[in-house]
Amino acid sequence: MHQTTEAPPTLSVVVPLYNEEGNVAPLLERIVGILERLPGTPSYEIVLVNDGSKDRTLERIREELRARANVVLVNLSRNFGHQLAATAGVEIARGDAVVLMDGDLQDPPELIADFVEQWRAGYDVVYAVRRTRRGESPFKLLTARIFYRTIKRLTKVSIPVDTGDFRLMSRRVVEALKRSPERHRFLRGLVSWVGYNQIGVEYDRDERLSGETKYPLPKMIRFAIDGITSFSDVPLRFASYLGFVSSVIAFVYAMVVVGFKIFSLNPPGYTRGWASTIVAVLFLGGVQLISLGILGEYIGRIYDEVKGRPLYLISEVERS
Ligand code: UDP
Ligand code: MG
Repeated sequence: MHQTTEAPPTLSVVVPLYNEEGNVAPLLERIVGILERLPGTPSYEIVLVNDGSKDRTLERIREELRARANVVLVNLSRNFGHQLAATAGVEIARGDAVVLMDGDLQDPPELIADFVEQWRAGYDVVYAVRRTRRGESPFKLLTARIFYRTIKRLTKVSIPVDTGDFRLMSRRVVEALKRSPERHRFLRGLVSWVGYNQIGVEYDRDERLSGETKYPLPKMIRFAIDGITSFSDVPLRFASYLGFVSSVIAFVYAMVVVGFKIFSLNPPGYTRGWASTIVAVLFLGGVQLISLGILGEYIGRIYDEVKGRPLYLISEVERS
């Protein structure tokens, strides 16, 4: 048996990276700067996950690996997306506490000091709450606002609002995550679901240092649907409510029509019955399509989970 004599580091910092060539060096500079100055000088490792980048991110990471100690490269076999890349990094991390952050310096590494302080005070999860967000379009700000508040209403798990994945997790939280092999991952929801003692730390979110966002609108919508469907079945019930309400309306309408027929009455617009028929058909058709769509979202997810494929594939892990 191969046995490592090295003790696991106290702190792991995990960063998923997809096409972030311009950010790797400044990111490490800042993270290392803050980690070296942490009170109590904990040992640390920085886990950089290359999520199938198409630019020179991998080369930049290798350069850092050669130049610095305590760097871990996790190279995925292809692009698996932010949430899975983060999951891969968190699973590889060995620290007693694991910090997850974005690689574009929108999450200021300086906050890690506050995280560690709260962790030492006994908290299992310390998450960063965005007080303000710089450099985001009004559209992103608005949709994000709506999203966090909608999901709060739809689920029983208390997922804090305006909170991304920037957070510290204790070892037992990480172990709990490892036991949650779901595919359409909404990490911040999962971490809330785990429980234990959680606390938020406020911060002002910076602009992206370089490159552009990897969350264009279609991906944002996917992410929102993943978040809602993995933590709420309200949409499923919404489909049945909608169906129920429309059947009641249709039934009442049918009675009225039959009543008119029986008593041979001519209601206003009787000769123009075509319009009301079309309205009823369209309405019911719409309700049915919406309900089918919602069912489809959940069934698609069940199908994905049932296949049981691995969440991600690692092509190599290298440590400096
Ligand atoms: N990311 C990733 N894989 C992807 C998309 C994004 O690893 O398929 C990383 C990205 O490099 C960044 C983090 O996830 O470190 C957050 O992405 P981004 O900054 O584009 O999201 P935004 O801040 O715009 O919501
Ligand atoms: Mg960003």
